Formats: sequence, structure tokens, C-alpha cells
Amino acid sequence: MALRTIREEGDSILLKKSRPVTDFNKRLHTLLDDMRETLLQADGVGLAAPQVGVLRRVVIVMDTNREELTPEEQIIELINPEIVSADGEQTGQEGCLSVPGVYGIVTRPEHVVVRAQDRFGNSFEVEGTGLTARCFCHETDHLDGHLFTEKAERILTPEELDELNSQE
Ligand code: ZN
Repeated sequence: MALRTIREEGDSILLKKSRPVTDFNKRLHTLLDDMRETLLQADGVGLAAPQVGVLRRVVIVMDTNREELTPEEQIIELINPEIVSADGEQTGQEGCLSVPGVYGIVTRPEHVVVRAQDRFGNSFEVEGTGLTARCFCHETDHLDGHLFTEKAERILTPEELDELNSQE
């Protein structure tokens, strides 16, 4: 496994649409393993392949609702993910490893169901609520070249960020 460099806002790759995965091969597994390591090292909750410079429909999301699991075990791998249903609404702060130090207020569904394939090409469905639902939406947006800053109602001010940091 190897750490990959996380691309940051201003890099045009983040604005491009990713292509579906058709070969569930060693190359895909290496990408997933590297993404897992990169996400854990960056202490994030989700990562999409374009964020590491690969325009393929691959994301990983941490199911932080499952507190009984280790961070490594919380990671859900989603190949060719599609949000097949969404309901409810949540409005809250959101950030992105590709937009460091910036947080915005974004409204997302409270609950989503995602259909995807695993690393071997098997189809499955997974659902998420709260932060996990937010993360599924945020990461699948990356695959279509969208960043959360486009959807944010507003960006937090430096004072609000200070307050946020002091709470942690
Ligand atoms: Zn992001």
C-alpha cells in the first residue's frame, strides 16, 4: 500500500466527470488499498478517486455510526455508486480533504440508499443516515466533478471556525 497525494481545489481534475469501473482487477484493488491508507492517514471520513487523481467512479466512506468498529473496519468501498433513494433533510457543516481549512453549511438528505458494486464486482445496497448519508452524497458528487463549496449556503467565518475548533 502507498499513500497518494490528495488533490486540492484549483486542480482541474476535481471538476471532471469520472468514468465507470469495468475491470475489477488488481489495479482497482491497489487503488482501493491506497485510498484506504490515504483516508486514515488524513483522518477524513470519505475519499473519492478523483481526489487522488484517478477519474474512476470509486469512493470510500467511513460508517461512523458504527462505533463498535475500528476506523479500518468502518470503511465502505463503493464502486460505481448511485444514490437510489433519499429522504429527509439535514443542514450542517461540511468540509473536504481537497478544500483544507474551509467549512460550509450544506443541506443534504438525512437518509440515503446507495447501490454500488464491491471490489469484486458484486452488486449491493447500503443505507446511511446523518453524517454517513452526508458523506455518501458528498463523495458521489466528486465523481461528477462537484465540490461542496458549490452547494454551501455559506462558508463559515474565521470566528466561527475558531469556535468550532475550541469545541473539539
Ligand atoms: Zn470532498
